[in-house]
Amino acid sequence: LSTTSTILPQEKSENPLPAISPSLLSDSTSIHNPCYMCGSTGQDRLFDADDFDGKGDCYSLYQCRQCGLVKTLPEPSPEALMEAYSQSYYGGGGNGGGETKFVTLIERWTRYSARKRAVALIKSHGVAGKKLRVLDIGCGRGVLLNAFEALGHDVVGVERKGSPFEGLPNIQCGDLADLNLESTSFDIVVLWHVLEHVSNPKIVINEVAKLISRTGSLFISVPNFGSRQAKVFKAAWFHLDLPRHLFHFTEFSLGNLLTASGLSIAAKNTFSLDQNAYGFLQSTLNMLPGLKNNHLYELLKGGLSIRLALWMLCYIPLVSIVSFGVIIELLVSQIQHCGASLTVKAVIKDD
Ligand SMILES: [Zn+2]
Repeated sequence: LSTTSTILPQEKSENPLPAISPSLLSDSTSIHNPCYMCGSTGQDRLFDADDFDGKGDCYSLYQCRQCGLVKTLPEPSPEALMEAYSQSYYGGGGNGGGETKFVTLIERWTRYSARKRAVALIKSHGVAGKKLRVLDIGCGRGVLLNAFEALGHDVVGVERKGSPFEGLPNIQCGDLADLNLESTSFDIVVLWHVLEHVSNPKIVINEVAKLISRTGSLFISVPNFGSRQAKVFKAAWFHLDLPRHLFHFTEFSLGNLLTASGLSIAAKNTFSLDQNAYGFLQSTLNMLPGLKNNHLYELLKGGLSIRLALWMLCYIPLVSIVSFGVIIELLVSQIQHCGASLTVKAVIKDD
């Protein structure tokens, strides 16, 4: 994470939406419901997009003119969300069984990058040689959690009630406020591609602000709605992930959310090799006529099969061509700080 001191205006500016270009506005349709985050009335409809899994549901993305928060509307029903979070989304039993979400190679990559991520987050936190207390909220099956533990740190993972990973070591299930976690006790708190999924990000950040130590670091990673990929691909963007992503953050709107709970961004980064590269690849494939949305991803998630092998005969030439675009996009967005994944380090704001 590179350090930055001038990411956020301390007060609301006259023109509060620098991150989104007006060209994103597909029409002038607007609604006047109060914004979830700032309460301001007046939100613009950016565009409509289909659900990720191809069930035929369509959603609209609305952006608050004041704080920049983008919300998925209509709010998906509890039934639609439950279906979207079926076992197949998480994959794997989580009990050490042989099942895994992806094919073995990708699974190995996932574990390798989790270890690299844990090392990088500890380095960014900046305290070497000390046993740290780490809280991973929305830890899934605990891949990152295990990486921190293997490095010798105390770990607690939190998952939603009814998660298939309930009962795994170090994982607690339920609402953050109900878990009796010791306040100001965590050196590192992680929300890794979680905040966009929760129905109440304001409450989550508020609770995190109570749990983190005075010198602690909060690491948040979300799909970057202010990225070039989001702007170019719009409804075809892989990381929209509707209806699971209830909110879509830019650096500006995320900064506003943190500020409201007494936190501030100390460093940021928009590079993530796997998230950004696959985001570009799958979004490009989504734009091609005749291919089902996110089809390659569905195939890979399904594991090794004859079906995958046959499809790969079609995909390998396509992927090879698109890969040139992937490399160029990775380089250019790294230089311009507009990559598809936004990771910030937030700290308690000095009074
Ligand atoms: Zn707002």
